[in-house]
Amino acid sequence: MSSVILLGAPGSGKGTIATRLKSEWEVAHISTGDMFREAIANKTAVGQKAEGYIKSGSLVPDEVTIEVVRERFSKPDVKNGFILDGFPRTIKQAEALNNILAEQSLELDGVVLLNVPSSLIVDRITGRRSCTKCGTIYHLKNMPPKQDGICDKCGSGLMHRKDDTEEVVKDRLSAYNDLTAPLIEFYRNMDLLLEIDASTNPDDMIRQVRELDL
Ligand code: AMP
Repeated sequence: MSSVILLGAPGSGKGTIATRLKSEWEVAHISTGDMFREAIANKTAVGQKAEGYIKSGSLVPDEVTIEVVRERFSKPDVKNGFILDGFPRTIKQAEALNNILAEQSLELDGVVLLNVPSSLIVDRITGRRSCTKCGTIYHLKNMPPKQDGICDKCGSGLMHRKDDTEEVVKDRLSAYNDLTAPLIEFYRNMDLLLEIDASTNPDDMIRQVRELDL
């Protein structure tokens, strides 16, 4: 059983490797971005609160995000391990997570930092397409689906996220540098930080994660 956080800039590959590790480890995949997108599609109260922030590339307020994660951790499947993808993104969220885990007597095995040069990020994000049903992530050039616009795995349609444009990516990267990057030091101080080279391809990234022996 493994319980990990994937930490890294937008486009570093968190979602891609989380969907693969989830089936390999048979643990819960908790992506706050996916949860917000689903809430927006279902027009829930959380979706309405989150929508404007996501469109503009800024972070959804901590109170809203922490509440969503707290509720997710009340489900029993997290006891069998979890992969956090896109949470925490601020020091306040990381502190809240420590409390949530302590309340549930759960422990983190490690925080995997996906290192990627910023020069690769814009191309990765603007070319990204993801399956509307199973979440598998493709890239128009680097990892195209066999059939245009169709998921190889489940045959559903692929989508281009509205916030995956060059314009919005700039703001998402500033949010990462200003608010999320300080978590690297936070988890290094907790002796939990592990790093992989995320400039390669998904197979190689998975190989590196396996070598961490989490
Ligand atoms: P992602 O799918 O992880 O790239 O997230 C897409 C967008 O959802 C982000 O740009 C934020 O606006 C919002 N979001 C996702 N996770 C968080 C979080 N932990 N804290 C605040 N906002 C978040």
